[in-house]
Amino acid sequence: AHLDRIAAVDEQVHAYLHVDAEGALAAARSIDERRAAGESLPALAGVPIAVKDVMTTRGIPTTCGSRTLEGWVPPYDATVVTRLRAQGMPILGKTNMDEFAMGSSTEHSAYGPTRNPWDLERIPGGSGGGSSAVVASFQAPLAIGTDTGGSIRQPAAVTGTVGTKPTYGGVSRYGLVALASSLDQAGPCARSVLDTALLHSVIGGHDPMDSTSIEAPVPAVVEAARNGDVSGMKIGIVRELGGEGYQPGVRARFDEAVQLLVDRGAEVIEVSCPNFDYALAAYYLILPSEASSNLAKFDAMRYGLRILPDGVDDPSAEQVMAASRDAGFGDEVKRRIILGTYALSSGYYDAYYGSAQKVRTLIAQDFERAFAKVDVLVSPTAPTTAFRFGDKLDDPMAMYLNDIATIPANLAGVPGMSLPSGLADEDGLPAGIQILAPAMRDERLYTVGAALE
Ligand code: GLN
Repeated sequence: AHLDRIAAVDEQVHAYLHVDAEGALAAARSIDERRAAGESLPALAGVPIAVKDVMTTRGIPTTCGSRTLEGWVPPYDATVVTRLRAQGMPILGKTNMDEFAMGSSTEHSAYGPTRNPWDLERIPGGSGGGSSAVVASFQAPLAIGTDTGGSIRQPAAVTGTVGTKPTYGGVSRYGLVALASSLDQAGPCARSVLDTALLHSVIGGHDPMDSTSIEAPVPAVVEAARNGDVSGMKIGIVRELGGEGYQPGVRARFDEAVQLLVDRGAEVIEVSCPNFDYALAAYYLILPSEASSNLAKFDAMRYGLRILPDGVDDPSAEQVMAASRDAGFGDEVKRRIILGTYALSSGYYDAYYGSAQKVRTLIAQDFERAFAKVDVLVSPTAPTTAFRFGDKLDDPMAMYLNDIATIPANLAGVPGMSLPSGLADEDGLPAGIQILAPAMRDERLYTVGAALE
C-alpha cells in the first residue's frame, strides 16, 4: 500500500531520493512467512519505514543529498538501520535532505527540493524535509531523521507531524555520515506521539560502535506516551524563545497549547535562559568547524565523485581533490567549509572556536539552572510556518535564523520533541510546539506530548 502511495504522490512531493521496492517487499514477505509459521515477532515487525539519506544502508544508495556521493552504495548498515532490520521493518527507501544536512528547507539538496505536502509551493523544513514529508503525505508511517540543529524538529513543525531529537548519546551515531559529531543525533519521525515513542525505543540504547553512546537503557518513552499525565508537572516557558520575530499565529497556537497543559493540572512558570541569545552565533561557528573537519574525507581518493581537472596532463592528487570538491559540493557546503576552516585556523582558533565553546558551556548552564526549577521547557519549535521556496535561499542569515529555537538543545545535548500545536490563522499551515527535557529524561517529552495530543 505504501509503495502504491509513493507511486501516486511522490512525483509531486519528491520526498524520496531512492525507493527500494524490491527490498521492502522481500522484507515484508519474510515477516508474513514468519508470522504464518507462528513465530513470535518484535513489536514493529512488518511496519515499513523510510530512512534519511544520511544513514548508511547496506546495498541501498546513500548520497547525503550530495553529488559527491552519487551512486555510492555503502557496504554496511548504520546501527539504527541494523536495529530496524532486526525488528523486521521493511525499508521503503531513502529520504531527501539538504546536502550533508546543512539547511532548513531541503532547497540545498543536489537533487532538487522536497515539497511540503500541505502546500506544494512551500518548503517542508530541513534538513530532514524528506523524512517529515513522507510521514505527512502517508508515504511511510514512520521515518528516521537526524537533528544537528533542528533537522528533525523544524520539519516536523512545518509539516504537522511529530519528531524527537533524543538525548545526545541516546541513539547510536555509527553509520550516520557526520555533519557535526558533537551535535548530531538520529531520532524518530511519525504522525503520533505514541508511534514516535515506539520507534524511539527500538532505535535507542547503548552501542559499543559509537564512543559517545550512553551506557544506559532507553528511557521509558512508550510508557510515558501511553500515560500523558502532567498533573503536578512544572513546565517552564523560555522567555528568550517566542517573542519578537515569531509569527502571531504560531505564537497564538503555542499559548493555547500551554493553556491546555494548565487545564490538565500542570504548573506553568516563565524561566529565563539569557545565553540562548548567543546560541545561533555559537552554533554557526561550532557546526562549520566540525563540518569542515568531517567533510575532509571526501577527497576523491577513497570514495565518491572523482573529477580530473581540465587541460592538465598529469594532475596531482591535490588538483584532483580540488576539482572534485569544486564539482561535488554545493554552495552552502562550500560556505560552511570555508567558515569552519577559518574559525579553526591558527591565530583565530581561540577568538572564534574557543569563544563559541565557552558560550556552549554557558548555554548548558542555563539549561541546568532552568531544570532545577522545572521538569520541562516549552517554546514554539520554529518562528514561522513553512515559508515559500526561494524566500531565504539567497540570504544565509535569514535561513540560519529559522533555527533559533531548536539549536540550544543540540549545544547542550538535551532531548527535544516537536509536535503539532494547530494551524496558524494567517496561512492555515501547521505550527509546532517544542518540548525540552534534561539529558536522559526523554520520557518527559512523551508525557507532555501525549497530554497535548
Ligand atoms: N538548519 C540547521 C543547519 O543548517 C540544522 C541542521 C541539522 O540539524 N542537520 O545547520
